[in-house]
Amino acid sequence: MQPLATTVIHDIGTLVTPARVPAPVRGADLAAVVEVPGASIAIDGDGVILSAGPEAEVRASIRTDGDTEFRDARGALAIPGLVDCHTHPVFAGDRAAEFELRNLGAGYEEIHAAGGGIRASVAKTRAALDDGSIAPQVRRHLDWMLAAGTTTAEGKSGYALTVEHELESLRVLGSVAKDHPIRLVRTLLAAHTVPVEFDGRPDAYVDEVAIPAARRAKREVRADAADVFLERGSFDAAQAGRYLRAAQAAGLVARMHGDQFSDSGAVELAIELGARSIDHLEALEPDAPRLRDLAASDVAGVLLPTSSLFLNRPYAPGRALVDAGAIVALASDFNPGSSYGESLPLAISLACLGCHLRAGEALTAATVNAAWVLGLADRVGRLDPGYRGDVVLLDQPNLAHLPYHVGSPAVQAVFVGGLEVSGGLGARR
Ligand SMILES: [Zn+2]
Repeated sequence: MQPLATTVIHDIGTLVTPARVPAPVRGADLAAVVEVPGASIAIDGDGVILSAGPEAEVRASIRTDGDTEFRDARGALAIPGLVDCHTHPVFAGDRAAEFELRNLGAGYEEIHAAGGGIRASVAKTRAALDDGSIAPQVRRHLDWMLAAGTTTAEGKSGYALTVEHELESLRVLGSVAKDHPIRLVRTLLAAHTVPVEFDGRPDAYVDEVAIPAARRAKREVRADAADVFLERGSFDAAQAGRYLRAAQAAGLVARMHGDQFSDSGAVELAIELGARSIDHLEALEPDAPRLRDLAASDVAGVLLPTSSLFLNRPYAPGRALVDAGAIVALASDFNPGSSYGESLPLAISLACLGCHLRAGEALTAATVNAAWVLGLADRVGRLDPGYRGDVVLLDQPNLAHLPYHVGSPAVQAVFVGGLEVSGGLGARR
Protein backbone atom coordinates (compact mmCIF):
# COMPACT_ATOMS: atom_id res chain seq x y z
CA MET A 1 0.00 0.00 0.00
CA GLN A 2 1.20 3.51 -0.77
CA PRO A 3 2.24 5.67 2.18
CA LEU A 4 -0.35 8.05 3.69
CA ALA A 5 0.14 11.76 3.02
CA THR A 6 -1.12 14.19 5.66
CA THR A 7 -0.30 17.30 3.58
CA VAL A 8 -0.43 17.68 -0.20
CA ILE A 9 0.69 20.98 -1.72
CA HIS A 10 -0.70 20.94 -5.26
CA ASP A 11 -0.92 23.20 -8.31
CA ILE A 12 2.65 24.40 -7.87
CA GLY A 13 3.56 26.43 -10.98
CA THR A 14 7.23 25.41 -10.85
CA LEU A 15 9.10 23.37 -8.24
CA VAL A 16 12.86 24.02 -7.97
CA THR A 17 15.30 21.93 -5.94
CA PRO A 18 19.12 21.53 -5.99
CA ALA A 19 20.76 19.00 -8.31
CA ARG A 20 20.46 15.42 -7.03
CA VAL A 21 24.16 14.99 -6.31
CA PRO A 22 25.71 14.42 -2.87
CA ALA A 23 26.33 17.48 -0.70
CA PRO A 24 28.35 19.63 -0.66
CA VAL A 25 27.49 20.68 -4.21
CA ARG A 26 30.39 22.15 -6.20
CA GLY A 27 31.22 23.63 -9.60
CA ALA A 28 28.76 23.19 -12.48
CA ASP A 29 26.40 21.13 -10.27
CA LEU A 30 25.54 24.30 -8.30
CA ALA A 31 23.60 25.68 -11.27
CA ALA A 32 22.18 22.33 -12.36
CA VAL A 33 18.99 22.65 -10.29
CA VAL A 34 15.94 20.48 -11.04
CA GLU A 35 12.94 22.50 -12.30
CA VAL A 36 9.55 20.75 -12.48
CA PRO A 37 6.51 22.54 -13.96
CA GLY A 38 3.05 21.54 -12.71
CA ALA A 39 4.24 19.91 -9.48
CA SER A 40 2.97 18.62 -6.14
CA ILE A 41 4.61 17.82 -2.83
CA ALA A 42 3.25 15.13 -0.49
CA ILE A 43 4.34 15.09 3.17
CA ASP A 44 3.72 12.44 5.82
CA GLY A 45 2.62 12.67 9.44
CA ASP A 46 6.22 12.94 10.63
CA GLY A 47 6.70 16.06 8.49
CA VAL A 48 8.89 14.24 5.97
CA ILE A 49 8.51 14.53 2.17
CA LEU A 50 7.08 11.34 0.64
CA SER A 51 7.07 12.51 -2.94
CA ALA A 52 7.81 15.73 -4.87
CA GLY A 53 7.56 16.16 -8.61
CA PRO A 54 5.05 16.09 -11.48
CA GLU A 55 1.47 16.25 -10.16
CA ALA A 56 0.34 12.89 -11.60
CA GLU A 57 3.44 11.00 -10.38
CA VAL A 58 3.00 12.33 -6.85
CA ARG A 59 -0.72 11.42 -6.77
CA ALA A 60 0.05 7.90 -7.96
CA SER A 61 2.77 7.33 -5.36
CA ILE A 62 0.77 8.18 -2.21
CA ARG A 63 -2.66 7.71 -0.66
CA THR A 64 -4.76 10.28 1.16
CA ASP A 65 -7.67 10.09 3.60
CA GLY A 66 -10.31 12.39 5.04
CA ASP A 67 -7.74 14.08 7.29
CA THR A 68 -5.26 14.89 4.53
CA GLU A 69 -4.72 18.64 4.21
CA PHE A 70 -4.80 19.81 0.58
CA ARG A 71 -3.13 23.16 -0.03
CA ASP A 72 -3.63 24.86 -3.40
CA ALA A 73 -0.38 26.67 -4.32
CA ARG A 74 -2.25 28.61 -7.05
CA GLY A 75 0.64 28.44 -9.48
CA ALA A 76 3.30 29.64 -7.02
CA LEU A 77 7.03 28.87 -7.31
CA ALA A 78 8.04 26.28 -4.69
CA ILE A 79 11.59 26.16 -3.32
CA PRO A 80 13.07 24.33 -0.31
CA GLY A 81 12.80 26.15 3.01
CA LEU A 82 15.80 28.48 3.03
CA VAL A 83 18.78 27.72 5.28
CA ASP A 84 20.60 30.68 6.82
CA CYS A 85 23.99 29.37 7.95
CA HIS A 86 25.30 32.65 9.45
CA THR A 87 23.24 34.94 11.72
CA HIS A 88 23.72 36.92 14.93
CA PRO A 89 20.21 37.00 16.48
CA VAL A 90 21.14 37.34 20.19
CA PHE A 91 21.44 41.09 20.72
CA ALA A 92 19.39 43.76 22.48
CA GLY A 93 18.19 47.02 20.97
CA ASP A 94 19.27 48.24 17.54
CA ARG A 95 21.74 50.68 15.97
CA ALA A 96 19.42 52.69 13.74
CA ALA A 97 20.92 56.03 14.79
CA GLU A 98 24.37 54.80 13.76
CA PHE A 99 23.03 53.75 10.35
CA GLU A 100 22.12 57.32 9.48
CA LEU A 101 25.38 58.74 10.86
CA ARG A 102 27.41 56.27 8.81
CA ASN A 103 25.44 57.01 5.66
CA LEU A 104 26.20 60.71 6.16
CA GLY A 105 29.91 59.93 6.30
CA ALA A 106 30.66 59.58 10.02
CA GLY A 107 33.74 57.54 10.96
CA TYR A 108 34.22 54.98 13.73
CA GLU A 109 35.21 57.56 16.38
CA GLU A 110 32.18 59.74 15.76
CA ILE A 111 29.85 56.75 15.84
CA HIS A 112 31.46 55.53 19.05
CA ALA A 113 31.15 59.00 20.64
CA ALA A 114 27.46 59.06 19.69
CA GLY A 115 26.93 55.84 21.67
CA GLY A 116 27.05 53.47 18.69
CA GLY A 117 29.33 50.65 17.62
CA ILE A 118 29.52 47.04 18.75
CA ARG A 119 30.35 48.00 22.33
CA ALA A 120 26.94 49.69 22.60
CA SER A 121 25.31 46.40 21.56
CA VAL A 122 27.46 44.51 24.09
CA ALA A 123 26.41 46.79 26.97
CA LYS A 124 22.70 46.52 26.06
CA THR A 125 22.89 42.75 25.53
CA ARG A 126 24.61 42.11 28.87
CA ALA A 127 21.93 44.18 30.63
CA ALA A 128 19.11 42.36 28.81
CA LEU A 129 20.63 38.97 29.68
CA ASP A 130 20.87 40.07 33.33
CA ASP A 131 17.28 41.36 33.61
CA GLY A 132 15.73 38.60 31.53
CA SER A 133 14.44 40.84 28.73
CA ILE A 134 16.48 39.31 25.89
CA ALA A 135 14.25 36.34 24.96
CA PRO A 136 11.38 38.29 23.33
CA GLN A 137 13.91 40.22 21.25
CA VAL A 138 15.56 37.01 20.05
CA ARG A 139 12.14 35.52 19.25
CA ARG A 140 11.25 38.59 17.18
CA HIS A 141 14.43 38.17 15.12
CA LEU A 142 13.57 34.52 14.42
CA ASP A 143 10.00 35.55 13.48
CA TRP A 144 11.41 37.94 10.87
CA MET A 145 13.60 35.18 9.43
CA LEU A 146 10.68 32.76 9.19
CA ALA A 147 8.49 35.33 7.44
CA ALA A 148 11.26 35.78 4.85
CA GLY A 149 11.35 32.03 4.12
CA THR A 150 14.10 30.81 6.45
CA THR A 151 13.17 27.47 8.03
CA THR A 152 16.62 26.42 9.33
CA ALA A 153 19.19 28.81 10.75
CA GLU A 154 22.44 29.07 12.60
CA GLY A 155 22.53 31.58 15.46
CA LYS A 156 25.66 32.93 17.13
CA SER A 157 26.38 34.44 20.53
CA GLY A 158 28.99 37.19 20.52
CA TYR A 159 27.37 40.33 21.99
CA ALA A 160 28.00 39.46 25.62
CA LEU A 161 31.72 38.59 25.87
CA THR A 162 32.00 37.19 29.38
CA VAL A 163 32.10 33.43 29.90
CA GLU A 164 28.75 33.34 31.70
CA HIS A 165 27.03 35.84 29.40
CA GLU A 166 28.18 34.03 26.25
CA LEU A 167 26.92 30.69 27.55
CA GLU A 168 23.67 32.34 28.67
CA SER A 169 23.24 33.84 25.16
CA LEU A 170 23.30 30.32 23.72
CA ARG A 171 21.01 29.00 26.46
CA VAL A 172 18.40 31.69 25.70
CA LEU A 173 18.70 31.00 21.98
CA GLY A 174 18.12 27.31 22.63
CA SER A 175 15.06 27.90 24.80
CA VAL A 176 13.51 30.35 22.31
CA ALA A 177 14.16 27.90 19.46
CA LYS A 178 12.53 25.05 21.37
CA ASP A 179 9.05 26.38 20.63
CA HIS A 180 9.80 28.21 17.38
CA PRO A 181 9.25 26.68 13.91
CA ILE A 182 12.80 27.53 12.81
CA ARG A 183 15.25 24.68 13.35
CA LEU A 184 18.30 26.24 14.98
CA VAL A 185 21.99 25.33 15.19
CA ARG A 186 23.99 27.30 17.78
CA THR A 187 27.49 28.73 17.49
CA LEU A 188 29.68 30.22 20.21
CA LEU A 189 31.21 33.48 18.93
CA ALA A 190 33.06 34.34 22.12
CA ALA A 191 35.91 35.79 20.03
CA HIS A 192 33.77 38.44 18.29
CA THR A 193 35.57 41.55 19.52
CA VAL A 194 37.71 42.55 22.49
CA PRO A 195 35.40 44.06 25.15
CA VAL A 196 36.24 47.37 26.81
CA GLU A 197 37.52 45.73 30.03
CA PHE A 198 40.22 43.92 27.99
CA ASP A 199 41.11 46.95 25.83
CA GLY A 200 44.49 46.37 24.16
CA ARG A 201 44.79 42.87 25.69
CA PRO A 202 43.32 40.46 23.11
CA ASP A 203 45.57 37.58 24.25
CA ALA A 204 44.34 37.91 27.81
CA TYR A 205 40.74 37.99 26.57
CA VAL A 206 41.25 34.83 24.49
CA ASP A 207 42.86 32.99 27.43
CA GLU A 208 40.54 34.20 30.19
CA VAL A 209 37.18 34.36 28.39
CA ALA A 210 37.02 32.92 24.86
CA ILE A 211 38.84 29.64 25.51
CA PRO A 212 37.14 28.89 28.86
CA ALA A 213 33.75 29.54 27.19
CA ALA A 214 34.70 27.24 24.29
CA ARG A 215 35.66 24.47 26.72
CA ARG A 216 32.19 24.60 28.35
CA ALA A 217 29.89 25.41 25.38
CA LYS A 218 29.36 21.87 24.10
CA ARG A 219 29.08 20.18 27.45
CA GLU A 220 26.90 22.77 29.21
CA VAL A 221 24.70 24.28 26.50
CA ARG A 222 25.10 21.79 23.61
CA ALA A 223 26.56 24.35 21.21
CA ASP A 224 27.45 22.97 17.78
CA ALA A 225 30.27 25.23 16.59
CA ALA A 226 32.71 27.98 17.54
CA ASP A 227 33.42 31.07 15.48
CA VAL A 228 35.98 33.90 15.59
CA PHE A 229 36.32 37.33 13.98
CA LEU A 230 39.77 37.09 12.40
CA GLU A 231 40.67 40.61 11.31
CA ARG A 232 43.10 43.46 11.95
CA GLY A 233 42.05 45.19 15.18
CA SER A 234 40.12 42.13 16.44
CA PHE A 235 41.89 38.76 16.66
CA ASP A 236 44.95 37.61 14.70
CA ALA A 237 45.58 34.16 13.26
CA ALA A 238 47.58 32.97 16.29
CA GLN A 239 44.81 33.98 18.71
CA ALA A 240 42.10 32.57 16.43
CA GLY A 241 44.01 29.29 16.08
CA ARG A 242 44.47 28.94 19.85
CA TYR A 243 40.76 29.51 20.48
CA LEU A 244 39.52 27.27 17.64
CA ARG A 245 41.86 24.40 18.59
CA ALA A 246 40.50 24.52 22.14
CA ALA A 247 36.97 24.57 20.71
CA GLN A 248 37.66 21.59 18.44
CA ALA A 249 39.18 19.67 21.36
CA ALA A 250 35.91 20.30 23.23
CA GLY A 251 33.89 18.86 20.35
CA LEU A 252 32.84 22.02 18.49
CA VAL A 253 33.00 22.56 14.72
CA ALA A 254 35.39 25.40 13.79
CA ARG A 255 34.17 28.35 11.71
CA MET A 256 35.55 31.83 11.13
CA HIS A 257 34.80 35.34 9.92
CA GLY A 258 37.75 35.95 7.57
CA ASP A 259 39.02 38.16 4.76
CA GLN A 260 36.28 40.75 5.30
CA PHE A 261 38.54 43.80 5.20
CA SER A 262 42.02 42.28 4.80
CA ASP A 263 43.99 39.07 4.32
CA SER A 264 44.76 38.05 7.89
CA GLY A 265 45.71 34.45 7.23
CA ALA A 266 42.19 33.04 7.57
CA VAL A 267 42.33 30.75 4.52
CA GLU A 268 45.59 29.10 5.60
CA LEU A 269 44.36 28.67 9.17
CA ALA A 270 40.96 27.28 8.11
CA ILE A 271 42.57 24.67 5.86
CA GLU A 272 45.13 23.73 8.51
CA LEU A 273 42.42 23.28 11.18
CA GLY A 274 39.93 21.57 8.89
CA ALA A 275 37.39 24.31 9.66
CA ARG A 276 33.87 23.95 8.28
CA SER A 277 33.76 27.44 6.72
CA ILE A 278 35.25 30.87 6.21
CA ASP A 279 32.56 33.51 6.02
CA HIS A 280 32.81 36.97 4.28
CA LEU A 281 35.83 36.77 1.87
CA GLU A 282 35.21 40.27 0.45
CA ALA A 283 38.98 40.93 0.57
CA LEU A 284 39.80 37.76 -1.38
CA GLU A 285 41.02 38.67 -4.89
CA PRO A 286 39.55 36.49 -7.68
CA ASP A 287 43.06 35.58 -8.91
CA ALA A 288 44.67 35.05 -5.50
CA PRO A 289 46.49 31.70 -5.06
CA ARG A 290 44.71 31.26 -1.73
CA LEU A 291 41.36 31.31 -3.54
CA ARG A 292 42.47 28.21 -5.44
CA ASP A 293 43.69 26.64 -2.18
CA LEU A 294 40.30 27.30 -0.58
CA ALA A 295 38.45 25.93 -3.63
CA ALA A 296 40.49 22.71 -3.50
CA SER A 297 39.77 22.21 0.20
CA ASP A 298 36.72 21.00 2.12
CA VAL A 299 36.30 24.41 3.78
CA ALA A 300 33.12 26.17 2.59
CA GLY A 301 33.24 29.80 1.50
CA VAL A 302 30.13 31.53 2.87
CA LEU A 303 29.06 34.65 0.96
CA LEU A 304 27.41 37.43 3.01
CA PRO A 305 26.48 39.98 0.33
CA THR A 306 23.93 41.86 2.47
CA SER A 307 26.85 43.12 4.58
CA SER A 308 28.51 44.43 1.40
CA LEU A 309 25.31 46.33 0.55
CA PHE A 310 24.94 47.60 4.11
CA LEU A 311 28.56 48.77 4.49
CA ASN A 312 28.91 49.89 0.87
CA ARG A 313 31.87 47.55 0.47
CA PRO A 314 33.11 45.25 -2.34
CA TYR A 315 31.39 41.89 -2.82
CA ALA A 316 33.13 38.54 -2.31
CA PRO A 317 34.39 36.78 -5.49
CA GLY A 318 31.52 34.31 -5.65
CA ARG A 319 31.86 33.69 -9.40
CA ALA A 320 35.56 32.86 -9.12
CA LEU A 321 34.90 30.55 -6.14
CA VAL A 322 32.18 28.63 -7.99
CA ASP A 323 34.29 28.38 -11.16
CA ALA A 324 37.28 27.14 -9.14
CA GLY A 325 35.16 24.36 -7.61
CA ALA A 326 34.77 25.70 -4.07
CA ILE A 327 31.97 24.73 -1.68
CA VAL A 328 29.96 27.96 -1.82
CA ALA A 329 27.16 28.78 0.63
CA LEU A 330 25.14 31.96 1.12
CA ALA A 331 23.81 33.60 4.30
CA SER A 332 22.30 36.84 5.61
CA ASP A 333 24.80 37.76 8.38
CA PHE A 334 21.79 39.26 10.20
CA ASN A 335 23.20 41.53 12.94
CA PRO A 336 22.55 45.04 14.30
CA GLY A 337 25.72 46.77 13.07
CA SER A 338 26.68 45.61 9.58
CA SER A 339 23.73 43.67 8.12
CA TYR A 340 20.36 44.45 9.71
CA GLY A 341 18.55 42.33 7.13
CA GLU A 342 17.39 38.75 7.64
CA SER A 343 16.05 38.22 4.09
CA LEU A 344 17.69 35.36 2.21
CA PRO A 345 15.70 36.25 -0.95
CA LEU A 346 17.50 39.62 -0.81
CA ALA A 347 20.84 37.86 -0.21
CA ILE A 348 20.09 35.69 -3.26
CA SER A 349 19.51 38.81 -5.38
CA LEU A 350 22.74 40.36 -4.10
CA ALA A 351 24.71 37.14 -4.67
CA CYS A 352 23.65 37.39 -8.32
CA LEU A 353 24.10 41.17 -8.68
CA GLY A 354 27.26 41.56 -6.61
CA CYS A 355 28.95 38.14 -6.62
CA HIS A 356 27.83 37.27 -10.19
CA LEU A 357 26.18 33.95 -9.35
CA ARG A 358 23.46 32.39 -11.48
CA ALA A 359 19.99 32.03 -9.91
CA GLY A 360 20.38 28.26 -9.49
CA GLU A 361 23.82 28.64 -7.91
CA ALA A 362 22.50 31.16 -5.38
CA LEU A 363 19.53 28.90 -4.52
CA THR A 364 21.79 25.86 -4.02
CA ALA A 365 24.13 27.99 -1.88
CA ALA A 366 21.23 29.10 0.36
CA THR A 367 19.69 25.64 0.73
CA VAL A 368 21.59 22.37 0.59
CA ASN A 369 25.10 23.84 0.79
CA ALA A 370 24.12 26.03 3.72
CA ALA A 371 22.64 22.90 5.32
CA TRP A 372 25.98 21.13 4.74
CA VAL A 373 27.77 23.92 6.64
CA LEU A 374 25.39 23.20 9.55
CA GLY A 375 25.79 19.41 9.35
CA LEU A 376 22.15 18.97 8.25
CA ALA A 377 22.45 18.28 4.51
CA ASP A 378 20.85 14.84 4.85
CA ARG A 379 17.64 16.35 6.29
CA VAL A 380 16.98 19.86 4.95
CA GLY A 381 17.69 21.96 1.85
CA ARG A 382 16.00 19.84 -0.84
CA LEU A 383 12.47 19.06 -2.03
CA ASP A 384 13.15 15.33 -2.31
CA PRO A 385 11.73 12.25 -0.57
CA GLY A 386 13.20 11.75 2.90
CA TYR A 387 13.86 15.45 3.48
CA ARG A 388 11.88 17.50 6.00
CA GLY A 389 8.75 19.05 4.48
CA ASP A 390 10.08 22.61 4.59
CA VAL A 391 8.69 24.50 1.61
CA VAL A 392 8.50 28.17 0.61
CA LEU A 393 5.87 29.30 -1.90
CA LEU A 394 6.72 32.49 -3.81
CA ASP A 395 4.59 34.72 -6.02
CA GLN A 396 6.98 34.19 -8.92
CA PRO A 397 6.64 32.25 -12.19
CA ASN A 398 10.06 30.58 -12.25
CA LEU A 399 13.55 30.49 -10.77
CA ALA A 400 14.83 33.42 -12.84
CA HIS A 401 12.46 35.72 -10.93
CA LEU A 402 13.90 34.75 -7.53
CA PRO A 403 16.93 37.11 -7.78
CA TYR A 404 15.34 39.39 -10.39
CA HIS A 405 12.46 40.63 -8.21
CA VAL A 406 14.76 42.55 -5.85
CA GLY A 407 13.64 43.17 -2.29
CA SER A 408 10.09 42.01 -2.98
CA PRO A 409 7.97 40.41 -0.23
CA ALA A 410 7.21 37.59 -2.67
CA VAL A 411 6.94 34.93 0.07
CA GLN A 412 3.33 33.66 0.02
CA ALA A 413 3.58 30.79 2.46
CA VAL A 414 6.15 28.93 4.54
CA PHE A 415 5.77 25.27 5.56
CA VAL A 416 7.87 23.60 8.24
CA GLY A 417 7.57 19.83 8.48
CA GLY A 418 4.46 20.03 6.29
CA LEU A 419 2.66 22.58 8.52
CA GLU A 420 1.93 26.04 7.18
CA VAL A 421 3.54 28.40 9.69
CA SER A 422 3.61 31.75 7.93
CA GLY A 423 1.38 33.31 5.33
CA GLY A 424 2.64 36.59 3.89
CA LEU A 425 1.18 38.95 1.30
CA GLY A 426 -1.11 37.28 -1.16
CA ALA A 427 -1.57 34.06 0.80
CA ARG A 428 -5.08 32.59 1.15
CA ARG A 429 -6.58 34.96 -1.40
ZN1 LIG B 1 28.84 37.64 10.98
